[in-house]
This record gives sequence, structure tokens and C-alpha cells, in this order.
Amino acid sequence: MQSTETLIIGAGPSGLALAYGLNHDYLLLEAENSVGGLCRSIHSHGAIFDIGGHSFHTPHRDVYELVQTVLDGKLYEQTRDARVYTHGVLIPYPFQKFYDLIPDPDVVRECEEGLTQTLASGGAANFEEYIVRKFGSGIARHFMLPYNRKLWARDISTISCEWISERVAAPKGTLEAFDTSGGERRPLQHGTSVAYPSQGGYEEIFRAIAARLRNVALRQRVTAIDAEHRTATTSDGNVYHWRRLVSTMPLPILLCCLQDTPHELITLAGELEYMSLRVELLVANSPLLHAPQRIYVADPAVPPHKIAFNHHSSDSLRARPHHGIMAEVSCSPMKTVDQEAIAPLTANFLTRAGILDSPQDIIWSGHIIVKHAYPVYTHRRPQIIAEIKEYLQQRDIYTIGRFGEWEYINADKCMHKGLALSHALNKIAAVSHSPGWLDDRRPAP
Ligand SMILES: Cc1cc2nc3c(=O)[nH]c(=O)nc-3n(C[C@H](O)[C@H](O)[C@H](O)COP(=O)(O)OP(=O)(O)OC[C@H]3O[C@@H](n4cnc5c(N)ncnc54)[C@H](O)[C@@H]3O)c2cc1C
Repeated sequence: MQSTETLIIGAGPSGLALAYGLNHDYLLLEAENSVGGLCRSIHSHGAIFDIGGHSFHTPHRDVYELVQTVLDGKLYEQTRDARVYTHGVLIPYPFQKFYDLIPDPDVVRECEEGLTQTLASGGAANFEEYIVRKFGSGIARHFMLPYNRKLWARDISTISCEWISERVAAPKGTLEAFDTSGGERRPLQHGTSVAYPSQGGYEEIFRAIAARLRNVALRQRVTAIDAEHRTATTSDGNVYHWRRLVSTMPLPILLCCLQDTPHELITLAGELEYMSLRVELLVANSPLLHAPQRIYVADPAVPPHKIAFNHHSSDSLRARPHHGIMAEVSCSPMKTVDQEAIAPLTANFLTRAGILDSPQDIIWSGHIIVKHAYPVYTHRRPQIIAEIKEYLQQRDIYTIGRFGEWEYINADKCMHKGLALSHALNKIAAVSHSPGWLDDRRPAP
């Protein structure tokens, strides 16, 4: 049996950054045959796709420096060009700042009038109410409500408001600077600076981190964890002994792997909601030089809510003879989607929007299903997470990451959290190895 001081489950951005920052013995186990998690890329039919549109932007200096270091400065930076397709035209994103470019004067007037009647959004009881209070009835009706119902694939009054300040841009007339000097993320805007590896797909960042690590074991899916004897067993029967365990796998799956978890806790974790994605991968027969980087669509007749033109992520992708497009379609038990119609309807839409000359410009299509794509902030989420974390930390099991903490965070924040946890664990390891200390100590939660 192999023993390690810190066993990490999952070589996504969180687990990789944690391993990168550790200065003591660790082992990183990854279920798949490559690293990167949700930031992996797919090479097919001359195109490079990510798992939905990915770009790099961070307010965290430690993460920016880490990425610049591992990529040896080979990061391609450009201005974000995102659009909203609405009322037959493409306007810059977000809708709430650029609705006055819509050619229909009645729509513009409704949006303007609604904005003059907005209420303090601080009093909103849920996301649906927030939208109407913050943006007024016009913007809510013409974009924000249909778009968010389509994106979240559920009744959005069941969603809380705790995540909004980092994700939803303010309306026209409000100054918002994208902060890169540390602190919290701000919503992306048309014109925000974004980055991508100069060569290859988004996963190159994570392959470059992994290349600097010593102990990464691929194709090692953890299926059972014994907290009392501090072991983890993989699907092929390997057993690893650990002193401390850090998991980045989805919390409900972790609890099912853990022996003797009380039934009530497993039931509680089952209440955590998530949104799944079907990402349609399309290859266009030419470079699509005039397409923006992203298009957002609220119209329920167009299956994807977001379409990412991946070959505008870097000059090296732009130079390819074909163009890789990712169309994101959210799925949940509350939403019916005709799966077979997604590719043709998307090609028709792109033709209508003037991006393709004809639907026949799409020369290949495929798709991937992402079961855990977005954690959903239900009203009970904070209480459920707190209970689960307390149970796990009593057993020297820590969790980080998008589904390790059930937080709507991007890869940069995952890396920031991984680095922060590595510093805390390094201190504990130093203390527990020094003479006179027999007991391990846990970092502050
Ligand atoms: C559509 C979409 C768009 C996004 N856009 C962006 C963006 O523009 N920029 C950005 O920075 N981020 C973006 N993100 C978010 C980013 O992809 C995630 O935040 C990030 O990948 C989460 O990292 P993680 O390490 O927490 O988890 P993951 O990436 O999910 O990695 C977890 C890893 O654990 C492994 N694992 C799971 N179970 C086991 C097991 N039992 N044993 C061993 N290994 C296991 C998995 O195989 C996986 O490799 C986007 C996400 C989505 C879905």
C-alpha cells in the first residue's frame, strides 16, 4: 500500500494548483487519462474545442503569475467581443447596457421606462425578483428573464442572490471597472481583457502545471474512502494510505464513496442542485473571421443560450482553415430539449444572424454531455454545505473547487483556492513534523 501525507482527488484546476503549492509529500489521483477536469480540450476534425467557452481572466495576482510562469509567458491576450442576439440584431453584451441599439423604438422605450422605476435590489428575496427590481420590467421581459430561465433550466425564483455581484453586470449608466488588482471577480463586459494559451486549447494551462508536478497518477478513479483507517481505494483495486485527504469531486459523490456516512447526510447532499450541459461541437468550413467570440441568445426557439466561437480565442486558432464552434444547451429534468434538432437549429440560427453563409457551411457536428456543469445556488445551499464540510473536516477531509464546494467559480478562483489551501497545509505539515508536536492540526476553514 502506498502512503502519502496529502492525497488529492482530481487533477482539475483546484487539485493541480494545490499540488503545485505543496512543499511536502503528496499524491494526486485523477480518474481520467488526462488532466484539466472541466478545462480539458477536445481535438476533432481539424478544430479545437473546450468544454463550453473558456477564457482566462482573474483578479488574483498569484494565479496570473502561476499561469504566466507555467506557460512561459505564452498567453494570448485580447479584448472580449461578446454579443447578444435580440430582436433580429447583434448588440454588444450585456443587454442591460446596450439595449438602446435595438432598432425597435417601442422595445427601447419599455427598457428605459422600466429603468426609471427600479427598486433597491438589496431587498430581493430571490433571483427572479432581483432581476425585476434591479433592471425594471422592460429589460426583464425582453432579455433577463427569458435568458436566465433558459440558462438555468428551472424556476429561477428557487435561486438565491448570493452569487450575483460577481456575475451579473449592472445596467447602463453604472460604472463598473474589472478589477485585476486582487479581490473579487467582477462581471465580464464587452471590452474586458481576456486571455487564452497562445497554442492549443484552454487545457494547455493545466497540462503545463501538471508537467511541473512529480506525483500525478492518471486513470485512478477513487471509489471508496475509509476515514477511520485513512485509506482510499480506486476502481482497479489500488489502495492509498493518507494522512490528509483533499477532494475536488462533487460533494454528493464523495459522501457516497465515504464508508459509514450517515444516511441523513447523503440525503441532504442529494438536495444540492446542479445544471447539466449538452455542448454541441460544430466545425465550420472556413475561419469565420467576422464572428464575435461569444453570442448569447434568450429566444427559446434557438436551443443554445450561448455560442462560443473558439477559434477566436487565439491567433493560432484563427489561422486554422476550419472554425470550431461550441453551442451550450442547458439541461435539467425541468426542461425538455429535442437533442437531435440542436445542431440543425443552431446552424440555421447562425445563418440568420449572418455568421454563416448557409447551414451547409457546417461540415461536422458532434456533442458532449457535461453532467456537473453549473452548481445552482438554491436557498438551502449554504446550510447544506456548512453541515457537510463540518462532518468532513472532523475526519481530516477537505474539499475545494467548483463542485467540491458547490460554488459558481471559474478555474482562476479554483486555482486561487488550491494555492491558499497548499499554504495552510504546508504550515501544518511543518508543525506536525517538528519535534514536540504529536498531533496534526487543521487549517482554519
Ligand atoms: C460551460 C462552462 C464554461 C466555463 N467557462 C470558464 C471560463 O471562461 N474561464 C474559466 O476559468 N473557467 C470557466 N469554467 C469553469 C471551470 O471549468 C471550472 O471552474 C474548473 O474546471 C473547476 O475546477 P475543479 O478542479 O474544481 O473541478 P473539475 O474541473 O471538475 O476537476 C475535477 C477533477 O476531478 C476528477 N475526479 C472526479 N471524481 C474523481 C474520482 N472519484 N477519482 C479521481 N478523480 C476524480 C475529474 O475527472 C476532474 O478531472 C467554465 C465551466 C463551464 C462548465
